[in-house]
Amino acid sequence: MVSKLHGPKYDLTEVKAAADQLNLEFRGRKVRDTTMTHCVVCKSEDIKCLTAVETLLYKGNELQIPLEYSVCNGCGREFVPKSQILSGEIAFRKAKKKIDGLLSSEEISQARAKLSISQEQASRVFGGGKNAFSKYERGEVSQSVAMDKLIRVCLKHHHVFRELALKAGVKLDSS
Ligand SMILES: [Zn+2]
Repeated sequence: MVSKLHGPKYDLTEVKAAADQLNLEFRGRKVRDTTMTHCVVCKSEDIKCLTAVETLLYKGNELQIPLEYSVCNGCGREFVPKSQILSGEIAFRKAKKKIDGLLSSEEISQARAKLSISQEQASRVFGGGKNAFSKYERGEVSQSVAMDKLIRVCLKHHHVFRELALKAGVKLDSS
């Protein structure tokens, strides 16, 4: 990924300093707090949430990604708490999936509804780990190209799905 940041965006030095004080995760740092209730610099509780549209480059495409950040009305400093870093990552992942031609989170959820299986059953049938489908559907993880193809094949050819379900020991209503 190549990112192109421009305009009056985050001051990374300040974000990092704030993250250090809060013990937030920032570029691989450990998480303790996930929300920001007061400014770590001036202690003001008057925090405003704003959105900046950033242009990020992915495979030669310019993606317009809405990224949330927090501004302290007391001292004017900008921060990006963990929760906002995560929502930005989800928005970016969603746009990347579209470029890659992968099923969206909503489409995966619809596919599972069509196959009449729970998230837990879908993870057993298709693999990917115990919580794979809850992560796909929340947009926290992208499915692999292979997983994407397998889901599409199962939607089109129900006997393939039935065989995989049988092998995984997942009982289907229709069988
Ligand atoms: Zn402040």
